[in-house]
Amino acid sequence: MNATHRHFVRALAVFLIALAVAGCATTQQAAQRPRNVIIMYADGVAATQFEFGRYSSEVLRNQPYAVTDTVLKQGAIGLLTTHPHEAFATDSAATASAMSTGVKTTIGAIGVGPDGKPVRTAAQAAKVGGKRIGLITTSEIWDASPAAFSVHARNRSEGANIVDQYLALEPTVILGGGADFFLPKPGGKRDDGKDVIAGFRAKGYTIARNTAELRAAGSGRLLGLFSDESLDHTIDRTGNDEPTLAEMTEVALRVLAANSPQGFFLFVENESTDTLGHRNDAAGLMRELWAFDDAVKVALEFQRRSPDTLVIVTGDHETGALSVTYALKDLSTTSSKNRFYAAKAQLEMLTKIKMSLDKVAEALGNKPDAAALDKLVAENFPGFKLDSDLRDAILKQQLLERNFSYPTQNTLGRMVSRQTGIYWGTSGHSTEPVIVGAIGPGAERFKGYMDNADFGRILQQLLERP
Ligand SMILES: [Zn+2]
Repeated sequence: MNATHRHFVRALAVFLIALAVAGCATTQQAAQRPRNVIIMYADGVAATQFEFGRYSSEVLRNQPYAVTDTVLKQGAIGLLTTHPHEAFATDSAATASAMSTGVKTTIGAIGVGPDGKPVRTAAQAAKVGGKRIGLITTSEIWDASPAAFSVHARNRSEGANIVDQYLALEPTVILGGGADFFLPKPGGKRDDGKDVIAGFRAKGYTIARNTAELRAAGSGRLLGLFSDESLDHTIDRTGNDEPTLAEMTEVALRVLAANSPQGFFLFVENESTDTLGHRNDAAGLMRELWAFDDAVKVALEFQRRSPDTLVIVTGDHETGALSVTYALKDLSTTSSKNRFYAAKAQLEMLTKIKMSLDKVAEALGNKPDAAALDKLVAENFPGFKLDSDLRDAILKQQLLERNFSYPTQNTLGRMVSRQTGIYWGTSGHSTEPVIVGAIGPGAERFKGYMDNADFGRILQQLLERP
């Protein structure tokens, strides 16, 4: 073998090794590429809330909490910053936009950058990848989070504009509340006289307006609108007219799996977890965290049958600065004998609460009557005592602090805090990072501490490739 020949053989070997390594990497990437992506999204929820869900589920329902016990234990874990463009505290529009588009934006913006120009959303990336789209929420379907994951608007209040874009985008499944911006005035809220439900029907969609119709739906495209505004909080539900988040998830997965040759992208949101955080409603939040987990279990069960599915569980920001802590029984002494720690007995008090704080506020109106207030508390909050300072504040409709917004709900929330040790620092959003749990192909990409815009960039990469 002469020198030239030796050189050639060495070059060939290097080339073959490089080819093998490249081939390996490509196979690995293909293996990590999910066919289906499901985002289970608890609005207003960070690690503190998921922990609250875990121990209350363990102690009171006697069942594991799938978010923590399956997804966080077995999957990849990440932490996300939540700040919007040029501020620290955020809103659901700015967070969902960043997590959908990969671009940080301003408060109230839907799928547009800080300059107001549209940026590609996660649902649009999914379309590029040939995937079908599903959108589910317990809120109005045109609300900030599902809107920012799919379409564009300069402001989250543009309900009619957002609904029009859904009709053009044609997601395979849309389920939630918010029929108001699908229908013209006087029954609905639209000024342009359009009936967008009829528009969806004309495009071949099955329309479901209650749980029975949802269950009866076939495998074709589906629009389910179960309320004019948002769906009821779980704690207030009596009949089964409105489907649970788990029921909506189950039907959506059935329809999407039957109609998606290239797979699908499904966004599932529980919005009540945020609303109840704003109201400082611990009993309502606890039940909502369980309802969310029931839907996560449906998604995980689907993944067991279709392992090429990536399930991502996350929130957008924390709401209420929730703090499950210890407290004094009263202010007579700081002695440790006068101190209690939130535990099983306190959680059991929560289960006895019969209605959301929103329902109490609705019943009392903005000029509460003392006798009506006492009666509502006695009947619906067994074991709780409304201290005179709190009672006066409700009757005078005085806020507890400048970072509180709901005189009746936040003050009753403080009554519950004082006896359970479950306190709240605000009625707004806090800056606690949110947790991401991912399980399935591509999950490793969400590992570590990152910006919520990085989450959006990774998500789009996973969605756009066929
Ligand atoms: Zn909120």
